[in-house]
Amino acid sequence: MLATPKFTGPVLELRDLLNTYLEPEKVAVILRAFEVGAVAHKDQKRKTGEPYILHPVAVARILANLRMDHLSVAAAILHDTLEDTPLTKPEIIEQFGDEIAELVDGVTKLDKMRFRTRHEADAESFRKLMLAMSRDLRVIFIKLSDRLHNMRTLGSMNPDSRRRIARETLDIYAPIADRLGMNSIKSELEDLGFENLFPWRHRTIAEHISTTTGNRREVIETIKKALKKKMNEAGVPCRIGGREKTPYSIYRKMLVKDLSFSEVNDVYAFRIITHSEPHCYMALGAVHALYQPRPGRFKDYIALPKANGYQSLHTVLNSPYGLPVEIQIRTEEMDVMAEKGAAAHWQYKIGEKYTGTAEVRARDWLMQLVDVQRHTGDSMEFLDGAKSDLFPNEIFVFTPKGKIIDLRANSTALDFAYAIHTDVGNHTQSVLVDKVEVPLSTRLENGQTVEVITDPAATPSPDWLSFVGTARARTAIRHYIRSLEQEDTVRFGMRMLEKALDARGTNMDEVPQDRLDAFLQDNQFNRLEDLLKSLALGSLLANMVASKLAPDARPDDQREEEALAIAGSEGNVVEFGACCFPVPGDSIMGYVSAGKGIVVHRINCRNAREFRKHPDRCINVVWAPIIKSLFQVSLRVLARNNPGVLANISASLSEAGSNIEKVEQTDTNPETATLMFTLTVRDRDHMARVMRRLRRNRNVIRVSRVSA
Ligand code: MN
Repeated sequence: MLATPKFTGPVLELRDLLNTYLEPEKVAVILRAFEVGAVAHKDQKRKTGEPYILHPVAVARILANLRMDHLSVAAAILHDTLEDTPLTKPEIIEQFGDEIAELVDGVTKLDKMRFRTRHEADAESFRKLMLAMSRDLRVIFIKLSDRLHNMRTLGSMNPDSRRRIARETLDIYAPIADRLGMNSIKSELEDLGFENLFPWRHRTIAEHISTTTGNRREVIETIKKALKKKMNEAGVPCRIGGREKTPYSIYRKMLVKDLSFSEVNDVYAFRIITHSEPHCYMALGAVHALYQPRPGRFKDYIALPKANGYQSLHTVLNSPYGLPVEIQIRTEEMDVMAEKGAAAHWQYKIGEKYTGTAEVRARDWLMQLVDVQRHTGDSMEFLDGAKSDLFPNEIFVFTPKGKIIDLRANSTALDFAYAIHTDVGNHTQSVLVDKVEVPLSTRLENGQTVEVITDPAATPSPDWLSFVGTARARTAIRHYIRSLEQEDTVRFGMRMLEKALDARGTNMDEVPQDRLDAFLQDNQFNRLEDLLKSLALGSLLANMVASKLAPDARPDDQREEEALAIAGSEGNVVEFGACCFPVPGDSIMGYVSAGKGIVVHRINCRNAREFRKHPDRCINVVWAPIIKSLFQVSLRVLARNNPGVLANISASLSEAGSNIEKVEQTDTNPETATLMFTLTVRDRDHMARVMRRLRRNRNVIRVSRVSA
C-alpha cells in the first residue's frame, strides 16, 4: 500500500482557492485526483528539479483562477497521466467517471500532435486543427493553462528548446487564446514567448517601462484623482485602474506601426469600469469634458465589438502633463469577457445549477458573440468561422512531410489523394494511414498522417464515385470516366454497325472509302467517329446506315442475326429500363431510342408490346458471359408494421449482400406496411437469394419482384 501523498504548500493554496467557489464535495474530487496523480507521477521530476506533480497542480490553479468547474480542474491535475504514467483511461473512468476521463484524453490527443512545419499558412490550419480536435472547449482551456505554466518555467530548458517552444507559443497558442477572447492568458503567453524568443529586446523594453512608470507615479495619481472627481460629478459609479503595458504589446506596436519606443509608451493609460452601457457613454462624455479628446482616436467597440467579442470604449485625451491620456471604458461584465472570453461561460458559482453540456456552453458563448456583434456587418462571417472551429465541418491531416491538408469532414483516403493532385488521385494504387494500408474508402480523422502510393498503370474506377466525399475528387473521377465513355461510345457504335453489315453478309473493310466519305458528307458528319457516336446514341439506326453503305448486299435470311452482348459496363450508351429492372439471367430485348442509345428491357416488360410496334428500333441483345457490374432490382415487401421493422429488414438485406438504393412506403395501415425497395444485386441467382433471406424474416409477410 502506498502512502497517501501529502498536501504540501501549493496543494493547500489550490484547496483554499477552490473552497472560495466550489462545494466541499467537488473540492474533494479534485483532491482525490491529486492523490491519484501524485502516486502516478511519483518518481518523475521536472527539468527544474521539482516533483513532477507540482506542474499539474499549477495548471489546475490557473484554471481555478478562471473559476472553472471541478471537472476541468480535476482533469488538469491528471492531464499528463495517460501520456507519461502507467495510469490508463479505463482506470480514470472507473475512479472519476467519463467526463473527466474524456477531458484528460482530449488533452493527451492534442499533446500527441506535433506542429512540424514552419509556414505561416500552416500555423492557421494547425490552430484550426487544435480547435477541431477539442469539441469540448475545456480541453483547450486545460491545454492553454498547461502551456502557460510551461512558459512560466521555461528557464530550465536549453536555449534551442526555449526558442522553439516560444515560437510555437506565439504562432499557435496565443492566437487561439485571442480567438477565444481570453485576453489575460493571451497577453501572458505573448509576453513570455517574446521574452524567450528575443531576450535582449524584451529586457530593454521592460527596463524602459519600469524607469518611466517610476518617474510617472505622481502624475498618474493626480490624473486618477481628477478622473474620479469628474465621474462623481457626472454621477457615474465606477472604479478606475491604471493599465500596465506588457513589453510585447509595446514591441508589437513599434513594429507594426513603425513607431519609436517613446511614441508608443509615452502615454498615461487608465481603465474605467462602471455598471451599465449607458454609464459607459456618460463616462465618455465626462472624460471628454475633463481633457480635450484627440481627434480620430475615439473607438466604439461597444457598438462595434471586436471579432472575439471584446467590448469597450477607447479614447485618447490631451492632458496638461505633456503626455496623452489613453482611456478604456467598459462595464464589469464586459471586463470579465475581455479577460476570460469563452472561459467566462464555464465559470462556476456555488448554488448555480450545472446544466450546460460542453456543446451548449460553447453555443452560449457563440450566441453571446452574435448578440454583441449584431450591429457589425461581418458578424455572420465571423460566426461561420467560429462555428466551423467548434462544430467542425473540416478535418486536418498530415502528409508524410508534415504539411497540413485541410479536407471536408467525411473525406476518405482517396479524397486526400485528389487533394494532393488530380494526377495523384487518378493513379492511386493504395493508401497508408499512419503507416498502415487501408481501403481507399476509409474515412479520415483529424491528425492522421496519410501517404498515397501511386502506380502509373492505376486508373479511376466508377465505383470510386460511390464513396468519395469531396467535390474535387468527384469532378476528377467523372471527368476521367466521361473521356473513357467517349471512347466506349465510338467502339459501341462500331459494334452496332458491324453487326448490321454482318447481317447483310458484308463488313466494314468491304465498304469503299469514297462511298463512306460521301455518306459522311451527305449526313454532315466530319469524321467516322461522329457517325459511330450517333449510332450508339440511337440518333441513327444501324440497319439504315448499313443499307446505304452496302446497297448491293442483301439481308441474308439464312443467317441468324447475331445478338449484341450487354455487360452493364457500357457506360452511357446502354441503360436499363426503370419499368422492369432487368438483371443478368432475365430474358431481355434492346430498344434503340434517339439520343439515349440502347435501353434494355425484360422480354415480359409491360412496355414490350409498344416497343414491338417499331421493329426497326428493336435489337437482339443477350447478357455477356462475364459481368462485373451491379444491377438494380425493385422488390415489393409486405411487412408487419412493428417498431424497428425497417431496420430489421435492412439487416436481412445486408446479410444477403445487397445494398438499398431507395425505399418507399406506399401505404399506411396500422398492421402492415408495403415497402418498395430498390436494391442492387449481381444477377437473378443473387436476387433469388435476397428474396429467400427476406422470406425468412419474421416481420415479412410477402415478397415479390416488381415486374411492370
Ligand atoms: Mn503538462
